[in-house]
Amino acid sequence: MTSRQTLRRLALAALLGLPASVHADGELNLYTARHYDTDTALYDAFEETAGVTVNVIEDKAGALIERIKAEGVNSPADVFVTADAGNLMNAAADGLFQPTVSETLEARIPANLRHPDGLWFAFTKRARVIMVREGVDATGLERYEDLADPRFDDTICIRSSGNVYNQSLVGSLIAANGEEATAAWVRGLVGNMAREPESNDTGQIKAVAAGECEIAVANTYYLARLARSDDPANVAIAEAIDVVLPNQGDRGVHVNISGAGVLAHAPNAGNAVLFLEFLASDEAQRAFAEGANEWPAVEGVAHAEILDELYGDFVQDDVDAWAFGADRGKAQDIMEANGWK
Ligand code: FE
Repeated sequence: MTSRQTLRRLALAALLGLPASVHADGELNLYTARHYDTDTALYDAFEETAGVTVNVIEDKAGALIERIKAEGVNSPADVFVTADAGNLMNAAADGLFQPTVSETLEARIPANLRHPDGLWFAFTKRARVIMVREGVDATGLERYEDLADPRFDDTICIRSSGNVYNQSLVGSLIAANGEEATAAWVRGLVGNMAREPESNDTGQIKAVAAGECEIAVANTYYLARLARSDDPANVAIAEAIDVVLPNQGDRGVHVNISGAGVLAHAPNAGNAVLFLEFLASDEAQRAFAEGANEWPAVEGVAHAEILDELYGDFVQDDVDAWAFGADRGKAQDIMEANGWK
């Protein structure tokens, strides 16, 4: 090791509050379902500081899970990074993660945002909120539960029951209200849809702005991305949207996560833990969240200004992410059984 590498290692150790004797030689193989330039910059920063070569494989979450399963004990993957507690719980249910014991991660990541056995940790938060076309009378639309109210007949755009964000949202409704009430809610919501589910979250927002429907359900970062776009047409779409932050008088807005865990057969498990601890540092939290227009999982770290402009402060549902993530299968069954295509 060169003295430059030693200095970097000491700098990283100091940054993370780790003993300087931490060894971070070699490689780290990341399988990630996130695809942001800022993430790549962070991997470079970790590589620079820790003296570890970071190799990145990008794909969709489901494809990466299948790949890790197929590779089995010979998998080179050390860390799996993905959005949504549902995806993390899918990987956990398949036995893909090993438990990580880290005082740093336990101290910095709130307990409701990490797996109780240390299988994965959240690094950012996003919320799934209601978006209404400016000028539409949304009186009485204050809770997710209200989306099933017949007064909103033929007004709602939302994507399919196969979408993991919706499965996690319905998982949170099961956690709050039980299965029977959630089934009735799904029937009401389906009855209020302005069209059969199609397209992605951005597609729902655009449909509201275009007048195809009046109400959409979408993740916070999609509206933020439109608002920050260089394309004036996207900015105009964002400006046509009013945000309803649901359930402010009770459990709060449904919050989901992006997270990561160390894989069961990780060849470089020590580096993997060091990388997760790096992601929990103030600097990495700021960059990881800012680039994706999300909120950092670590409390007290600053987020992108656009989030204050669009959403401000709001009450967040602090139900355990592993709980609604684990309910996603049940959620999907209830959605499909009650007509959500
Ligand atoms: Fe997304």
